Amino acid sequence: MYPVKEKLLEVKHTLREGIELVAVSKFHPKEYIEEVYALGHRVFGESREQELKQKHQELPQDIVWHFIGHLQTNKVKYIVPYVSMIETVDSIRLLREIEKQAAKVDRVIDVLLELHIADEETKSGMTLDEWRELLADGEWKEMSHIRIRGIMMMASNVDDDEQIRQEFNIAADFFDEVKATYFADDDFFSERSYGMSGDYMIAQECRSTMVRIGTTIFGPRVY
Ligand SMILES: *Cc1c(COP(=O)(O)O)cnc(C)c1O
Repeated sequence: MYPVKEKLLEVKHTLREGIELVAVSKFHPKEYIEEVYALGHRVFGESREQELKQKHQELPQDIVWHFIGHLQTNKVKYIVPYVSMIETVDSIRLLREIEKQAAKVDRVIDVLLELHIADEETKSGMTLDEWRELLADGEWKEMSHIRIRGIMMMASNVDDDEQIRQEFNIAADFFDEVKATYFADDDFFSERSYGMSGDYMIAQECRSTMVRIGTTIFGPRVY
């Protein structure tokens, strides 16, 4: 078995004070989660609804689940009853569906706005201009079962640290812009989720508040 306990502790030692660690457990067995749970870690990230459902049923109920994958609107109703945060909001349709399903179960769901900044076509999220338009439109203000906590993004998958740094800084600046425009008085709008196994040290230098780390803790994923 991969030495997940040691790896989690190693990662924690490299994190700055106050940075939230989301342990990305997708594709890994529940025994791995139990290992780090035993060390007191509670926040885990999953990217597939079915896998999350099964782990949620089998594992302790005080685990804080973050959904970090592409979320189809028809899957929202299955995760809303128990998920703590949906980090990957990328359309008004998805926001509407989360609002609707959260109202049904009388919950308020924390969400992050997923930004598309990276070069690659394949990266999900909305561009900054698309977000500007959606936020200006204001429909989201009526959604009382959604709490927008901040932004999330993935940097390009490249070796060029400078490019990655630039992309993180664009995300941080956009956070500031949205904060000043819509959430200046709201302490809950405080999260900048970026940084994965390969780039979280750079992310920390670029004002990340939340890193999502899988491979460094749990080892390579077998798809
Ligand atoms: C899988 C995944 C991660 C973790 O990636 P690692 O490189 O294994 O640390 C982080 N964020 C998102 C959105 C992911 O899908």
